[in-house]
Amino acid sequence: MSDAPEAVTLVILGASGDLTGRLLLPGLATLLKAEPELDVTLVGASDLDWSQEKWADRVSSALTDGGCSAAGIRRLVEGTRYERLDVTDAAQMQRFLTELSGQIVLYFALPPAVSMRSCEALAHVDLPAGIRLAIEKPFGSDLTSAQQFNALLARLVPEEQIFRVDHFLGKATVLNLLGLRFANRILEPVWNATNIERVEFVADETLALEGRARYYDHAGALKDMIQSHLLLVMAMFALEEPARLDAVELRDLMVHTLRSTHLWDNDPVASSRRARYTAGTIEGGRSRRTWTRKASTRRP
Ligand code: NDP
Repeated sequence: MSDAPEAVTLVILGASGDLTGRLLLPGLATLLKAEPELDVTLVGASDLDWSQEKWADRVSSALTDGGCSAAGIRRLVEGTRYERLDVTDAAQMQRFLTELSGQIVLYFALPPAVSMRSCEALAHVDLPAGIRLAIEKPFGSDLTSAQQFNALLARLVPEEQIFRVDHFLGKATVLNLLGLRFANRILEPVWNATNIERVEFVADETLALEGRARYYDHAGALKDMIQSHLLLVMAMFALEEPARLDAVELRDLMVHTLRSTHLWDNDPVASSRRARYTAGTIEGGRSRRTWTRKASTRRP
């Protein structure tokens, strides 16, 4: 058996979008800096009419900013290409996927509704063996659409090939919660409901809308931040001790924690606060993304 790393073709659907530029390419840069031997071919696809040069520039500057070696940048940039594609069109997806080789990863950096429509199209496509699907949060827009999305994905590939991504869970501070709590003989014995009266999760951001007004207008801050990022962080914070650190164990314990939660008095109005954005400041500069509390509950 060869020790050579598996050749991976990473396809970013929505390559011209904000997530790709701000998180995915910098994330890839971090990975390749740490593991330069990885054999990755990057393919960007989106419905914008971008030139190969424009895409290559985007990849190159992300890798340069991420501190990759000159040789690593050259290798990735020389092998990368951009394809104009309607990801919701089964015939276009079939042709596109047939041309790819290696272990294929499809990363859906698309608006949630487009990701679903793209997967509906993939149901009519002969998928390459072992293809992996990475889906960004938010996963659907409500319980029903999330269940429909899960059912759709289950028709496409086995569960082990589906990756539902919430990048907050990859943040060092969140991952460190496990070590901070379970490997710490001072904190571990007192980290429980007997000793802790309440926990507040405060999400401060220096980020403004950054070109995401269209997405935000549709999704809203509640769905963007709370039901995904912050509830998952809460689940990581409060889970029972894992017997081992793997995806199934962590997911099961997080689900267990979420099942154990409930709204105060089972009343969404009494247990929430209404707020809206007004102009504000971030690090001294003017911003349009500051919460102003409009009404508070009887419980502070
Ligand atoms: P953007 O709207 O910036 O990017 C989406 C990209 O997909 C655009 O380039 C868009 O092109 C393209 N696209 C839309 N429809 C199609 C289609 N039918 N075929 C091909 N390409 C298409 O969104 P984001 O990058 O901000 O977000 C992508 C996903 O990531 C969303 O699910 C979002 O919730 C999630 N996410 C985003 C974060 C962020 O910080 N941006 C953080 C966490 C998650 P066009 O402009 O022409 O429509």
